[in-house]
Amino acid sequence: MNQTLQSVRGMNDLLPDEAEFWELFEDTVRSWLKAYGYRPIRMPIVEPTPLFKRAIGEVTDIVEKEMYSFTDSLNGEQLTLRPEGTAGCVRALIQHNLAAQQVRRLYYMGQMFRHERPQKGRYRQFHQVGVETFGLVGPDIDAELILMGARLWDDLGLDGIELQINSLGQPEERAQHRAALVAYFEQYSDLLDEDARRRLYTNPLRILDSKNPQLQEMCAGAPKLIDYLGVESLAHFEGVQRILCDAGLPYTVNPRLVRGLDYYNLTVFEWVTDRLGAQGTVCAGGRYDGLVEQLGGKPTPACGFAMGIERLVALIRDSGGTPAPVAPDVYLVHQGTEAARFAFRVAEGLRDQGVNVLLHCGGGSFKSQMKKADASGATFAVVIGDDEAATAEAQLKPLREGQGAQRKLKVSELAAAIAGQLIDSEIIDEQE
Ligand code: ATP
Ligand code: MG
Repeated sequence: MNQTLQSVRGMNDLLPDEAEFWELFEDTVRSWLKAYGYRPIRMPIVEPTPLFKRAIGEVTDIVEKEMYSFTDSLNGEQLTLRPEGTAGCVRALIQHNLAAQQVRRLYYMGQMFRHERPQKGRYRQFHQVGVETFGLVGPDIDAELILMGARLWDDLGLDGIELQINSLGQPEERAQHRAALVAYFEQYSDLLDEDARRRLYTNPLRILDSKNPQLQEMCAGAPKLIDYLGVESLAHFEGVQRILCDAGLPYTVNPRLVRGLDYYNLTVFEWVTDRLGAQGTVCAGGRYDGLVEQLGGKPTPACGFAMGIERLVALIRDSGGTPAPVAPDVYLVHQGTEAARFAFRVAEGLRDQGVNVLLHCGGGSFKSQMKKADASGATFAVVIGDDEAATAEAQLKPLREGQGAQRKLKVSELAAAIAGQLIDSEIIDEQE
């Protein structure tokens, strides 16, 4: 017996209602990015595995256990479905020498893949909007990236998303803090879970990022990185905070914010909501000055963030945001052989004039076509029979109340009549 095929666990279809919602979200995101001068870049979904190992770090959740990696059966190359976008973006920057062309602000949107346990807000295929800047040392750009977030939440009609920031300092400062941290965790080695024990000597900072509630109390008492920052790092952090304060943007300094990826330095930040349960981080980012050089490029300071689209869309839904369904202006009903041929021309002619037309396909009685017209949500039905086809006319039938009676019109007058009625009905909507 045939077994029905299903999508891969943790990888979801977006059906039309949902996909339309996403398109509206994407429209808002694109105009928001334009307002800040960001330009699009599109990287492949598959990259060489060593790119992620070098960029993200060997001792991270992503590289240790979340990557979808495989061997190209033709040439034996090790490949990985991208788990995040920054590594590929930096690779492209270096490969095409974008920094020399003054390309400083980039964004991308698309699928990412991580082999995690699927749950609400956590999927194996998910989507991010990523924003990256290159060649800017900050703290002005760090602050701009943070302020951008606040504007987007506003554009999306979202509130209650809180900003947390921290500074990870520079590698030397982190090394001193790390020594203190290892000494601290060694005192509590009995309490450490398996992940933490493994990371104790490879990447102890990441223990602070643990999701295990039993570790949280001990982590709260651990030495704080901020106490190990030198004058320059502190000045950078203060510079960011000054701009945020000037803009009147509230934030919390969270000393335990260390981010899941190895490549960050100085400013890191997360936007967090308590409305999505455990998966509350909707946007996360920071500075990664060392990464371009680490991947073989010229030393280039960099700063960016990524937002999880699934979580943001869930939040918009949760706060009652339901966009108007996208319906055609016209459903074109036709009956008869000549009428069918003529209907095609009428439909294309209307589209030439900016009218959205759903042309009935597949025949059927006039009555059943009219039912489909109603169900489509269209504003009008345009009805053509062989008689109308012979005289280049059509019936314009309003499908919503308050838009007058059915009229027979010259086809050449249809678009104007529809536009007139559409405008009239919008005015009526506004007055209501
Ligand atoms: P988390 O701590 O939730 O695992 P992360 O630190 O691994 O997040 P990043 O790599 O910083 O996440 O990714 C940026 C954003 O992408 C996250 O804040 C989140 O909104 C989203 N995101 C990350 N992983 C997933 C996933 N598996 N499913 C859905 N969204 C995700
Ligand atoms: Mg994660």
